[in-house]
Amino acid sequence: MTVSTPTAATANVDQAEIDKFSALASRWWDPTSEFKPLHAINPLRLDWILSHTGPLQGKQVLDVGCGGGILSESLAQAGGEVTGIDLAERSLKIARLHSLESGVPVQYETVSAEDMAERHPGRFDVVTCMEMLEHVPDPGSIIRACSRLVKPGGWVFFSTLNRNPKSFLFAIVGAEYVLRLIPKGTHSYEGFIKPSELIQTARHCGLEAEELKGLEYNPITDHYRLSGDTSVNYLVATRRQD
Ligand code: SAH
Repeated sequence: MTVSTPTAATANVDQAEIDKFSALASRWWDPTSEFKPLHAINPLRLDWILSHTGPLQGKQVLDVGCGGGILSESLAQAGGEVTGIDLAERSLKIARLHSLESGVPVQYETVSAEDMAERHPGRFDVVTCMEMLEHVPDPGSIIRACSRLVKPGGWVFFSTLNRNPKSFLFAIVGAEYVLRLIPKGTHSYEGFIKPSELIQTARHCGLEAEELKGLEYNPITDHYRLSGDTSVNYLVATRRQD
C-alpha cells in the first residue's frame, strides 16, 4: 500500500461504492437488513475500543465512514462527543434522523477524511475507521488522514478484511453467495488489505499498532466473537506517536 500525495486526496472516493451504500441507506437501522452483520458486531467492537481508550466522557471522537451511525451512536452513548463523517449523503440523512429519534447526539458531516484532516488536525482523542478502508481507492491516504486527525497519544482503530484465499472464500463466496449475509458485490477482493500492509502503512504515518484482533463468524450458531484468528475479518488498535 502506498501513501499518495495530498493533491490526490480529494479524489480518494469510488463513486460506485458511495452509490451502493446510498441505495441501501433507508435500511441502516433495520437489524434484519443487509446491515445485520454490522449490528451484530457492534457491541463487540465497542467493548474492544473502550478496553483501550477507557471511558469516553469528555473525549472528542471521530467516526470515519460512519454510514447510518451504528458505531457513532454507540460511541456517543458511551459518553464520547462524537462526529461522524461519510460521503454518502443519504446515509447521513438517515443517521441524523436516527440521532434525533434516539436522542443520542452525534454531529454528522459530509466531508472526506482528508479534508477533515486539513481543517482539524490533531483535534480528536479517538478516531474510528471501521469496515471502510476496503471501499476506497487509496486506503493509505485515509490512514494518513486519520493519523493527522488524532492528538499525539490518541487512539485510531481500523477494521477491514484480510486478503488471502480463505478470506475470498469466506467473505465473498460464503457471505455474499452461500449464506447471503450481505448483498452480492458488497466487497471486491482487490480492496482487501493484509494486516501487515495496514500496520506498516500506519507506522509510516506515525501510528503504532498496539493490538491486532480477529473477528470470527460462526455460521452454525450465527454468532461473532473476537479471537486470535485474523485470516478473514480483523481489527487493529493503533496509537499516535508523540
Ligand atoms: N463504519 C460503519 C459503516 C461501514 S460501511 C460501520 O462499520 O458501521 C462503509 C461506509 O464507508 C459506507 O457508509 C460508505 O458510504 C463509506 N465510504 C465509502 N467510501 C468512502 C469515502 N471515500 N469516504 C468516506 N466514506 C466512504
